[in-house]
Amino acid sequence: MDSLPTFRFSPNAYELGFFVAEPLLCSCCERDREWRYRGSFYTRADDVRLCPWCVADGSAARRFGGSFSDWLGIDGVPIEPEEPLAVDEDAAREVADRTPSYPSWQQEQWRSHCGLPCAFIGFVGADDLPGLLPDPVFAQDVDGGLGFPGDLLRSYLSPDGDLAGYLFRCVVCDAHRLHVDAS
Ligand SMILES: [Zn+2]
Ligand SMILES: [Zn+2]
Repeated sequence: MDSLPTFRFSPNAYELGFFVAEPLLCSCCERDREWRYRGSFYTRADDVRLCPWCVADGSAARRFGGSFSDWLGIDGVPIEPEEPLAVDEDAAREVADRTPSYPSWQQEQWRSHCGLPCAFIGFVGADDLPGLLPDPVFAQDVDGGLGFPGDLLRSYLSPDGDLAGYLFRCVVCDAHRLHVDAS
């Protein structure tokens, strides 16, 4: 039995339910596996069922020409392809092609810090903010840095509601960052 792969940019992927313990025949490695990826996978192929190993080693992204997170949704990836990236390209590729995405209302976005994509940690609501706001990087995101009024987030942010909070942590300096998505 192969041990389950881990994801540096989604270290809580199993606890958060991005994979479900369920037998499947993986569409990529074509092996009988016990864990199925249940997040988004942007590909033209139909009915792709993936095991964690084929997510982690990039084989699913290569075989099906797909990605798990939107490339342009990663902080530091410019809209114009000729412009330079403000985030490490290999690491950003790892997020798009070898990291499970997380469920969100709209297209997911991936925060970056210190020149690298952050790790997705989990879902947060208003009750979680007091513990995180001493972090100045996080406070900046809450207080208007994301285009939402700070008062609104302090009152209505919810881990799974209409104004949902997504928590990231910098893999270099451990600063926290926030993504907010409204239904
Ligand atoms: Zn597989
Ligand atoms: Zn940092």
